[in-house]
Amino acid sequence: MSERKVLSKYYPPEFDPSKIKRTPKSERPTGPKLMPVRLMAPFSMKCTSCGEYIYKGRKFNARKETTDEKYLTIPIYRFYIRCTRCSSEITFKTDPKNMDYACERGAKRNFESWRDPESTELKETDEERLDRLEREEAEEAENAERNAMEELEQKMEDSKREMQIADALDEIRTRNARIERGERGNKEEEALALSRQQADEQKAAQELADEEAARKAFQQANVDKARLDEAIELQGDVDAVEAKPTRPPVPTFERVKKPKKPLVPVLAKKTADVVPPLPTAPKTLGLGLGDYDSD
Ligand SMILES: [Zn+2]
Repeated sequence: MSERKVLSKYYPPEFDPSKIKRTPKSERPTGPKLMPVRLMAPFSMKCTSCGEYIYKGRKFNARKETTDEKYLTIPIYRFYIRCTRCSSEITFKTDPKNMDYACERGAKRNFESWRDPESTELKETDEERLDRLEREEAEEAENAERNAMEELEQKMEDSKREMQIADALDEIRTRNARIERGERGNKEEEALALSRQQADEQKAAQELADEEAARKAFQQANVDKARLDEAIELQGDVDAVEAKPTRPPVPTFERVKKPKKPLVPVLAKKTADVVPPLPTAPKTLGLGLGDYDSD
């Protein structure tokens, strides 16, 4: 802190001020040729590399360079700034002759009509201006017509192309459909074969089941017949045998059935022995019994 403020300066005893000489002004260095400054853009311009507009008054940190050029002993300075968007370097110089600045590199100065009093646009009379406007209008109309024609042609071409594309698409679609159908046909064949197989299996199973059922039915019929026989025999023992043929077999059968239940296992054995004559039995069960009885 104390050093920065330098309140006390120490001179060593061997210090000799006579050894320090004043350099004449002409021999002194003119200072740095390039120095950083902060400035505002003196005119609006457009960057040539990216097209960004830099308006008058925008602030920049710039480098200021003293050029060797002079206008009536007035030095001309050059400033370097960077584009705000693409950072490319833009330079402009002072222009003491016109009391203005001149754009040098990296940017183009925007048009300012008041800076160009000799321009034709400012000098033209009202009639000339009207003529010019009319001419411009006619040109515009012509351009519009040509554009319309071009647009129409473009549309025609586009539609033609679209038609071609649609045709090609249709072709592809039909081909795909055909291919798919072929595949599906195969599948159908497979499915048909499968279903046929299944049907065969089912048929076989049903046949088996039918056989089983038939066998069971036959066995049952045998059992019933045997029971009936048994009952009839019992009844025959008890009553007179001659009454049987006239009576229908069913009521007696039902009446007798209950007491006979314990006998069933024995009967089943009997039926197993009696199997061969059975095939005709089931149909003529009721009538057959009577016949048997009568015999
Ligand atoms: Zn730029």
